[in-house]
Amino acid sequence: MSGPQPLPRVSAIPPYVPGKPPVARAGLTTYKLSSNENPYPPLPGVIEAAHAAVAEMNRYPDMGSAALYAELAARLGCPEEELAVATGSVALIFHLLTAFCSEGDEVVHAWRSFEAYPIAVAASGATGVPVPVTTGADGGRHDLDAMAAAVTDRTKVVLLCTPNNPTGPALTHTDVERFLAQVPPHVLVVVDEAYREFVRMADPVDGAALRRRHENVVLFRTFSKAYGLAGLRVGYAVAAPSVVAAVRAVSTPFGVSSIAQAAAIASLRAEDELLERVATLVAERDRMLAGIRAAGWTVPEAQGNFVWFDLGETTGPFTAAAGDAGLSVRPFAGEGVRVTVAEPAATDRLVELLARVSLR
Ligand SMILES: *Cc1c(COP(=O)(O)O)cnc(C)c1O
Repeated sequence: MSGPQPLPRVSAIPPYVPGKPPVARAGLTTYKLSSNENPYPPLPGVIEAAHAAVAEMNRYPDMGSAALYAELAARLGCPEEELAVATGSVALIFHLLTAFCSEGDEVVHAWRSFEAYPIAVAASGATGVPVPVTTGADGGRHDLDAMAAAVTDRTKVVLLCTPNNPTGPALTHTDVERFLAQVPPHVLVVVDEAYREFVRMADPVDGAALRRRHENVVLFRTFSKAYGLAGLRVGYAVAAPSVVAAVRAVSTPFGVSSIAQAAAIASLRAEDELLERVATLVAERDRMLAGIRAAGWTVPEAQGNFVWFDLGETTGPFTAAAGDAGLSVRPFAGEGVRVTVAEPAATDRLVELLARVSLR
């Protein structure tokens, strides 16, 4: 071994497993239910804005994303110094951990939760402290008492994912306030709100209120899910100015493309129409849950645009059976399967599959 060698911690980074596209089946329409994407195509106005930006792709984007910051600040009613845009909220996780963590520091997060967390933690050199989500009929929830107990002198960041990807339940505002009261103020508490627009529950997390009350709260939001811009890579953080400055300092210069900036602004301006689509997806989620339960299956509360099947050892066979039915789902080997809420015909296909397989 005489060639260049990466850091040992880099070689140990777990791979990110992306959701697969469906395999074509003769005579069968197939559906991609493996990446929590929005099934709707972009709105015409958003495509037009992106096209206009494409015509100027010989130029660098506005490095300061000024127009996008102005649009976000006006909408959220906060100063631009409290906002950091980046190439998706996955990038924000990396930026935040790069800015705040190094070897010996600890990052507490629920597990199973978002797959990118352990990758970003390992890349920063910090040590991940995964705290198991609850199990049983009402499972898949953050165990906030155990997470608070896992905070030590070395903890720099806690990552809360609500609704939790891939298991589905969301935290209440009261849950998060109680948690924050148990965590020292120098520990950053990230509230990853990637699916906030899909939440329909009593006492939902009010991120803006948390941010106003706690200097250590960081909100992560994305245009990838409810706004349907997954392919363009844009998200933002809301945090105290000092935290935002640190995140911006380590961000890749010119990261957010001019096309992404334009599409994000156009999406914010078309928010009403986009949120109507979200409401349709939420109704579809409820229809899917009713179908799942009518077929005799038990799944955790689903507050995002996806449903979790806690399948354990039958994860592989279930994934294969779904594939045969033209549905690409997201398996987590030995643990379970996450299925995205998408087209009604895909829901029907899933429910039909559930009625005929017995893999529990
Ligand atoms: C999809 C997702 C994101 C958003 O990722 P982007 O990089 O913005 O596309 C962030 N957090 C969670 C939990 C997600 O599921």
